[in-house]
Amino acid sequence: MQAFFFDQDGILYDSMPKHARAWAQVMQAHGYDFSEEDCFMNEGRTGKDVIREAIWELEHREATEDEIWDIYEEKGRAFVAQGEVGPIEGVIDVLRFLKKNKKDIWVVTGSAQASLLDNLNTKIGPFFDRTRMVTAFDVTHGKPDPEPYLKAWDKSKQPKKDCCVIENAPLGVRSAKAAGLHTIAVNTGPLADIALWNEGADQVFASMSDLLSWLKENI
Ligand code: MG
Repeated sequence: MQAFFFDQDGILYDSMPKHARAWAQVMQAHGYDFSEEDCFMNEGRTGKDVIREAIWELEHREATEDEIWDIYEEKGRAFVAQGEVGPIEGVIDVLRFLKKNKKDIWVVTGSAQASLLDNLNTKIGPFFDRTRMVTAFDVTHGKPDPEPYLKAWDKSKQPKKDCCVIENAPLGVRSAKAAGLHTIAVNTGPLADIALWNEGADQVFASMSDLLSWLKENI
């Protein structure tokens, strides 16, 4: 394997609990029925898609671009207000190992959160290159559509068999498997492993240190 496609939230950043609180707080303030658990179930989708769907379900109408961005910005502020986020435990060792072994490190995320995207190299470590990122700004259809991972694969110029996705979310696994890529799930959140297996994950690890052990034996 040569190219490793990392999801961002819940894989690089330990950010999901704060995202979940921010989403629930802002959506409920707007009258939408959206819990923290809904956030974990929707993880991977772009914020835009989450808001569009919530408005459709409650009001049976298409959301306007303006209201989508207003709510998304509000959610972004509610997220930032909860303080700094750090890396997922053990992920820096994984990244360091891959870098040492001259592997390509990619970020493939539905996020448009500038406070996270723009600070990967300062908050996680010097592993990232803006030309090796696919974000919410780069795709028409976010996860669970295969487009984000297909785009990263296409840009990587590697055969699919040499690519590997690292995901924590069921819909992220669905996206990666629909793109035809080997997908390792690391279950860093509150959902049961079965939610990841059910989407077709090739492997499910409980922690980054388990993933690192596997990489050391297999790379
Ligand atoms: Mg994630």
